[in-house]
Amino acid sequence: MSKPLRAAVYGLAVGDALGVPYEFKPRGTFTVEGMDGYGTHNKPAGTWSDDTSLTLATCASIKALGRVDTGDIGARFREWQQSGAYSVDGVFDIGMTTATALYKGMGQEDEMSNGNGSLMRILPLAFTEATEADTRAVSAITHAHSISMDACVNYVAIARALASGSSISDAVDSAPGFGGANANASSLSEMGKEEVRSGGFVLDTLTAALWCLLGTRCYRDCVLEAVRLGGDTDTTAAVAGGLAGIVYGFGGIPPEWLSRLRGKGIIEACLF
Ligand SMILES: [Mg+2]
Repeated sequence: MSKPLRAAVYGLAVGDALGVPYEFKPRGTFTVEGMDGYGTHNKPAGTWSDDTSLTLATCASIKALGRVDTGDIGARFREWQQSGAYSVDGVFDIGMTTATALYKGMGQEDEMSNGNGSLMRILPLAFTEATEADTRAVSAITHAHSISMDACVNYVAIARALASGSSISDAVDSAPGFGGANANASSLSEMGKEEVRSGGFVLDTLTAALWCLLGTRCYRDCVLEAVRLGGDTDTTAAVAGGLAGIVYGFGGIPPEWLSRLRGKGIIEACLF
C-alpha cells in the first residue's frame, strides 16, 4: 500500500465530510471550525459523500485488477448508485451527469455536462501508471466532454508532481494545459476570494481547490478555507483535501477529524 495514496484518500474523505453539512450554503452565511454533523443532508459528523464513495470504488477496482479498467470501474459505480456499495449508510448525494451516465451506460459529452463529478473521483489514478488517455477514459465513464477530461488530466498531473516532492507552485505550473493563458500558480495566488467561484463547474472547482492549497500552509487551513467558500463545499474541500493530504501527509490531518471520520474500515479495504 502506497503511503501517499493513503494520505490522499483520507485527505479527500476528511475534506468531503467537513463540507457535507454545508453543501449548497452560500459563502458568508455560516461558520465552520471543524467536523460538524447534520445540516444540509442531516448526517452525523464524519459522514462522507459521493466524492469519497466514487474515489473508493475506483481504488477498489485498481486493487482488484492491478490495472485501470473503465468497464470494471463503471460497474462498481453502478453498484454504489444502486445498492450503496462504498458508502457508510447509503447514497444521499449524486450529481445529475453521473446519474444519467450510469443509467444510460454512456458518459455525457455535451458542454453542459461539465460539473465536477469526475474531477472529484479521479485522484487514485495519480498513484498508477495511467496515461493521459487512461485518465480521460476514466473521466468519460460519466463526464466525456473535453473540459472535464482535461481538468482530470491536470489534477492527476498536479497530484503526481506533489507526490514526487515538487513545491505546490511548481506542481501547478508543471501541469499540462493548466499553466496556460491565465491560470498559473502566481495568477491563482493573486486572486481575491471574491473572484474564486465555488459552484459545481469543474474548472471553478479545480481553480478554487488550487487557490486554497496555494494560499494556506497546513491541511487544516486548506480544507477549512475550501468549505468556507460555500456552494459545493464538500467537493471543493474533497478536491483540495486530496492534494493537501499528499502535501502534508497522513500525519498532517488533524487526529480529532480522523477519529470522527465514519467508515474508516470501508476506506482501508479499498486502498491499494
Ligand atoms: Mg458530495
